[in-house]
Amino acid sequence: MQTQTKTKILILGGTTEGYALADALTTRADLRVINSLAGRTDHPRLPAGETRIGGFGGAAGLADYLREQGIRAVIDATHPFAAGMGWNAAEGCRVAAVPLLRLERPAWSAVPGDRWESVADWAGAVATLIGGGSRRVLLAVGRQELAPFAGLDAIWFLIRAVTPPDPLPPFPAGELLLARGPFDLGGERALLDDQAIDTIVCKNSGGEATAAKLTAARERGIRVIIRERPARPALPTATTVAEAIAWLSPASVPLP
Ligand code: NAP
Repeated sequence: MQTQTKTKILILGGTTEGYALADALTTRADLRVINSLAGRTDHPRLPAGETRIGGFGGAAGLADYLREQGIRAVIDATHPFAAGMGWNAAEGCRVAAVPLLRLERPAWSAVPGDRWESVADWAGAVATLIGGGSRRVLLAVGRQELAPFAGLDAIWFLIRAVTPPDPLPPFPAGELLLARGPFDLGGERALLDDQAIDTIVCKNSGGEATAAKLTAARERGIRVIIRERPARPALPTATTVAEAIAWLSPASVPLP
């Protein structure tokens, strides 16, 4: 009986897209799917296929891993703001001569009625908040990026995070709201109204799961201070799981 050698694929994940891609690719008999998670949370949801957890040790560590494991293609499905991993993936794959695809959801774009102020970093968001007369702010920036806002003692913050910040920086006034998306429009409308929110601070993450707050803000004329995405290396890019699967064809990646 002939034994088929499976082609090893590495997904750099931790995102909705990473989980969806793993679900799709593990149905293929010709592939062996290995997912990589950063290990930021204690009990992460495990994707379909195999999973390894933790950093590789920079681009050189990733290149070594790819060679040792015989990985034939890498799909970087990390979050748009996980740019460090993105640059390491590009360099590691270049060194190990492994094809790399970026799977990335499109960024959100302002539409008429939006009151967005784009910033490049959190220092810019803080300066914009101070200058703009905000008093009650929904802070949806991730639990590890709260510190730049903790010194703004004239503002009350509703800090929304998936898991408890540890430690929580000493905000003079505010409340912690633990909640995991997706968030629907009705819930976001109620939240903004009940808490009398006048400003949202968030990242331009893109995707459906957390977009409703922007619609609710537009309806209410609420300002949104939005951090734009960090630069990433120029790479072949898919915006959907279907496009990523198409890239994994013999024409793009020399599968055995
Ligand atoms: P980052 O700043 O770009 O990465 C810092 C380091 O963490 C990387 O150099 C790498 O360490 C390690 N790392 C990151 N992602 C990894 C992965 N998927 N597998 C193995 N190692 C990984 O990343 P981050 O912004 O902290 O994000 C960490 C993870 O959380 C990512 O998987 C990302 O998809 C997910 N996430 C991030 C955000 C966000 O807003 N940043 C939101 C949702 C989900 P070594 O150099 O040692 O290899």
